[in-house]
Amino acid sequence: MNLDNKTLDKLYKLAEKAYKKGEIPVSAIILDKNNKIVSAKYNNRQNKYNILGHAEILAIQNLEKKTKDWRLDGYKMLVSLEPCDMCSMVINKSRLDHVYYVLPSESNDKNDNFSIKKSKLNIDKEFELKFQKLLTNFFNNKRWKPPFLWYNIQQEGLVWLIKFYIENIDLIISIM
Ligand SMILES: [Zn+2]
Repeated sequence: MNLDNKTLDKLYKLAEKAYKKGEIPVSAIILDKNNKIVSAKYNNRQNKYNILGHAEILAIQNLEKKTKDWRLDGYKMLVSLEPCDMCSMVINKSRLDHVYYVLPSESNDKNDNFSIKKSKLNIDKEFELKFQKLLTNFFNNKRWKPPFLWYNIQQEGLVWLIKFYIENIDLIISIM
């Protein structure tokens, strides 16, 4: 699919917005037959206390309200991350034509039982990395770190030592 940079930019900005609000940075855009944006949403599960607050479902609900029709034949969706099972089911039932995602999902709840038509978007590697970085940063910030500085430093030192050992194993063996 041919996508203009403006649409992709918008997808990124939405994901960034989610990130800034402490949500998993995922965004979804729905396009009509002429590739015009008709709905655009990002995750709000945390802030709205809403189990259904995934970008894909919110974008679908938004468009359905606008068109006063729950059937979305003829529309396609862009999403920054491959949809989860819950969203796949809703996408399937909403009859969206096709889903294009930027990043493949690494989650293993992908049992593909919901037979949605989906494919990975072919975009600039650099742009893809921007999306990836947003997600990685989000999950890195969430990870628990011990509150004691000395412990973190020690841990980092140990990781460095192990890495050094693995990377230079040939050299170490030859010296011994
Ligand atoms: Zn989802």
